[in-house]
Parts: sequence; C-alpha cells; structure tokens
Amino acid sequence: MEKRQELYAGKAKSVFATDDPDHLILTFRDDTSAFDGERMESLARKGMVNNRFNAFIMEQLAAAGIPTHFTQRLSDTESVVKKLDMIPVECVVRNIAAGGLVKRLGVEEGKELNPPTFELFLKNDALHDPMINESLAETFGWATPEQLAEMKALTFRVNDVLKRLFADGGLLLVDYKLEFGLFKGEIVLGDEFSPDGCRLWDAETREKLDKDRFRQGLGGVIEAYEEVGRRIGVGFD
Ligand code: 5GP
Repeated sequence: MEKRQELYAGKAKSVFATDDPDHLILTFRDDTSAFDGERMESLARKGMVNNRFNAFIMEQLAAAGIPTHFTQRLSDTESVVKKLDMIPVECVVRNIAAGGLVKRLGVEEGKELNPPTFELFLKNDALHDPMINESLAETFGWATPEQLAEMKALTFRVNDVLKRLFADGGLLLVDYKLEFGLFKGEIVLGDEFSPDGCRLWDAETREKLDKDRFRQGLGGVIEAYEEVGRRIGVGFD
C-alpha cells in the first residue's frame, strides 16, 4: 500500500491517504496534548507505544465481534485503517467516578458507578467538546437515533471485553471515550484506544496509569503506558 498526501493532522495523530480509496494510514506522533490543546508536549516513544497498544486492543475487540476500522500495523508508528465517515460524537462510559463527572456533579472520585454511565459529547475543540444528548444529536444531524443506539450498544460491549482484559492485568478500567464512523453504511469503531483516551488505575493501589499523569503533572507518563501494556500482553520489543 502506498502512503500518499497528509489529509489531516490531529493533536496526536496524522491521517494520510493511500492508493486505496477505502483505506488510510494513521501515524501516531509523540505529541501529547491536554486541555483542548492548551498544553502540548512531545513525549519520547509515545507514538510507538500508543500505536502498538491500539493495535493490540483493536485486535482484541475484533476477536470479540466488535467492528473496528483497524486493518493492520504497518510500522512502529503507523497503522492501516478503513476510511470512515466520522460521526462527530464522543461516547463515554464510566465505571468509576473521575475527571469531568467529579467536576460536574461533585461526586467523590473513586465512587463505583452501578450501572456504569453513558454520556455523549460533541467533538468540537473550539467549544471544548460540550456534553450533548440524543435529542441534540438528532436535531442537528450529528447522528440518527438508530446510529446512536448502535454506538451505545457497541460502547457497552467494549466495556465488557476491556474491563475483563484490564482486570486480568490487575487494572481498573475507570472510564474511556470511543469514536465511531460509517464504513459502507455500517457503524464501525474508529479513532484509537490507548491510555490517552481512557483512565486506568492499579486495582490495588489505585495509582493512575493513564493520561491523567500528564494532565496532573505526575510524570512517568510513557512508563505508565508501557506498564499497562506489559500487564495486558502488548509487545513493545
Ligand atoms: P472526562 O469527561 O472525565 O474528561 O473524560 C472521560 C474519559 O474520556 C477519559 O478517559 C478521557 O481520557 C476520555 N476523553 C474524553 N474526551 C476526550 C478527548 O477529547 N480526547 C481524549 N484523548 N480523551 C478524551
């Protein structure tokens, strides 16, 4: 497959066209951002770690029957994915209270959420990804009710698969964000799954092993990502 022009550069990944109109190449960069791009830093090895982490998770999800855009890892920092028409809505499931939920509702960090919550956010940096709901998504044409129902069902199926996978590595999957798109009319999981877009705590000590280390200036960011990866079986060689 031939890599062609850059189509889009996000905060941590770039998207390239290929000679195949149905496929794109994602490159995972070392760039790390927080607070809607207000804080940016380059962290050595991050592109490689997240590319390998994401490939591993996407393969686990595909094996569990969840449709994903992931096709194959090409190199340390590149993967081939299906070209999706992205739906500009972020789906968030929370198993334990942290981050935005704690800030918004004043609940105690660490509180177990039973049943887990499901939230929708509009993907829009300029507006700081505001929280939305099904009605707004339908009215403004961001997604149809059928698409939203499918996205919600898939997001919870991902929870079943990944909660178990991380638990086997002595980790709590606190929360995570997923993005979906359409491939030939089918809802497919897109974007990435890495410690950049989820919260993972050590099950015993509740040590934070995800992007909160960067957001909160705790240090050891990539070391924590690698630790999580090693515990669930991601090979970094
Ligand atoms: P919160 O609403 O607590 O800030 O985020 C909930 C979960 O979704 C966290 O795991 C967070 O990392 C993830 N998340 C929400 N929005 C974004 C986003 O725009 N980018 C990334 N990388 N993760 C996000």
